[in-house]
Amino acid sequence: MTTNTQHTDIPIALAQGIQALASAVPTTPWLSDADKQALRERIKALLIEKDAVLVAHYYVDADLQALAEETGGCVADSLEMANFGNQHPAKTLVVVGVRFMGETAKILNPEKRVLMPDLGATCSLDEGCPAADFAAWRAQYPDRVALVYANTSAQVKALADWVVTSGNALQIVRHLHAQGKKLLWAPDRHLGNWIARETGADMIRWQGHCLVHDEFKTQALIDLIAKHPDAKVLVHPESPESVVKLAHVVGSTKILINAVQNLPDEKFIIATDAGIFWKMQQLAPHKTLLVAPTSGEGATCQSCAHCPWMALNGLQNLAQVLATGANEIMIEESIRQGAVNSLNRMLDFSRQQGLVVAGRKDT
Ligand code: SF4
Repeated sequence: MTTNTQHTDIPIALAQGIQALASAVPTTPWLSDADKQALRERIKALLIEKDAVLVAHYYVDADLQALAEETGGCVADSLEMANFGNQHPAKTLVVVGVRFMGETAKILNPEKRVLMPDLGATCSLDEGCPAADFAAWRAQYPDRVALVYANTSAQVKALADWVVTSGNALQIVRHLHAQGKKLLWAPDRHLGNWIARETGADMIRWQGHCLVHDEFKTQALIDLIAKHPDAKVLVHPESPESVVKLAHVVGSTKILINAVQNLPDEKFIIATDAGIFWKMQQLAPHKTLLVAPTSGEGATCQSCAHCPWMALNGLQNLAQVLATGANEIMIEESIRQGAVNSLNRMLDFSRQQGLVVAGRKDT
């Protein structure tokens, strides 16, 4: 019989600090349509001049997603972003997302220059799992295989056995559970709980959370479903269990996008960052998309289902880093070497399972 044990003494002060940090994040400046068009043209020219490509996440602003696609870059989840950057020939990768995504690009591509529009674009999961605390926690369980979510620092990845994303975590945990392995999981508690429920794996779990998904409200969602009984409910598994239980589809950003595109339903309620609506609407322009509620009794959300750190990416700072080469991601080689092993384990597994289309690059 397996047991699902939870680790509960992870720094609460850090979690509280994250809320304060989120409310301190500055907003991007307002731009007129003419300003935006001028910036788009400048960025296009700079991408060619600098031999650079945009690697963007589904949660960044629509302007940036559209520009990435228009210029031959990608808009993707973190697994596909890692793979795209790994395979693309450009000498410079401009990662339009949050810091762990830029670090992942650099870990896999040490010979390339990796730039980001704002190095302050972090993630509450990354911030809530400091490397020293993770190392001490891991040392208590030397017989367990350590899996960390992609939303962690390069240092934490270097301390782990596997990196996983929401697009492959279920398959990787099932694979290890079938081999009789006992696991450690960090940092997202809701994703870890969902995977443990789905797989029955013996997983001791860190208690981090995403400040966007943690805010979806169960009763408000029940009320919205009652108003729209014809809607399918799509939920990212970083959301609380009571929200996940209301879902028709639970999965990664890619799975939720596929559901909107391929299910015959016309209306969807979506519990993930609202940045994803751009890609969903692009692929299914006639369907109705409703954002799941983050307001309601006890709500503290500052972001209204939009990550404040993803929102730090904009046309202005993107043009600036391309022009100046500022905000380059640098990673100490010993840390990179440790992290590349756990990342390549994930990429190899994902290639074998057909979860990504291309293979690894030894670095
Ligand atoms: S949406 Fe959540 S998990 Fe994603 S970068 Fe923002 S804080 Fe991190």
